[in-house]
Amino acid sequence: MRGSASTYIKQRGLTELKIAGWGGPADELRYGITQELQHLIPRLNYALRGISEQQRLAIYNKWNNVSVVEDIDYQVAIQILGILAAIIFVLMLRNYNIKIYSQALEVKNKQLEELRGNLERKNQQLDFLSAHDPLTKLYNRHYFNSQYIDKKQDENNVEPMCLIIMDVDYFKLINDNFGHNTGDIVLAKLAELLINTVRGSDVVTRWGGEEFIILCPKLALQSACELCQRLAIQIQQTQFTDGVKITCSFGVAQREANESILMCLDRADKALYRAKDGGRNQTCIDTKAVDF
Ligand code: GH3
Ligand code: MG
Ligand code: MG
Repeated sequence: MRGSASTYIKQRGLTELKIAGWGGPADELRYGITQELQHLIPRLNYALRGISEQQRLAIYNKWNNVSVVEDIDYQVAIQILGILAAIIFVLMLRNYNIKIYSQALEVKNKQLEELRGNLERKNQQLDFLSAHDPLTKLYNRHYFNSQYIDKKQDENNVEPMCLIIMDVDYFKLINDNFGHNTGDIVLAKLAELLINTVRGSDVVTRWGGEEFIILCPKLALQSACELCQRLAIQIQQTQFTDGVKITCSFGVAQREANESILMCLDRADKALYRAKDGGRNQTCIDTKAVDF
């Protein structure tokens, strides 16, 4: 039957028709016969059995000249391509998102780094402000207290140490006569003069208003007095601003063995009072006044 169909298709030129698949029965030579000719069956069978394999193949090829076209299943290929395209798209989208996220992270990191830098600078400023006086840039009272008065000092230290308290004479008059602003300029310049005159190891502190402390490590009383004298002379010779001149009074004390810095400071303060009482522009040590 199949052989007939393919021959029919071929004969009629129905080239667009294709056999979709193979069906049974298997390829074998068969024949049909009318009832009246039944007596020919044994002979016909005998004749069929007599057909050689070569003849059989020739008959088969004559009736089954079918070219087999293997159909590719494009739908599956399209589905696989679609899935691949979707995976590639998802991966690209993921990469794009990671890139955008990385860029945003980089910007945030830069901002964070800037903030960290600002914070560090602010902390340094705060550290400086907490230890220094903003007008004179000298150490402030808080710093001096925390470093020398509140801190336990080495009692075994036998090195001499002197404390000087210095106060500007009649400073109120400077403010009254020249204005508070001029008073500020005088204080700032005075601080500069002090720093430039003392040794590097001396600690100059603005104790309050127009009052300063100079802590002189490894300095004996005599040398401390000489330092006060040098300062007094320089102060007297300095034109602070617009012809403003000042003088200062000094109180000096040398720290005694096992004496606290506070006690020593108290003695220096008392000496300063004596210098003021004695007429100002002078240095007092304990009970003795040294005039210039
Ligand atoms: P004495 O010789 O007895 O020390 O007299 P004095 O006028 O210096 O002392 P007084 O305590 O009467 O006055 C101190 C003045 O210092 C008063 C105050 O207004 C001024 N003063 C304190 N701090 C500052 C400051 O930071 N800037 C200015 N311009 N003046 C200040
Ligand atoms: Mg004063
Ligand atoms: Mg004073």
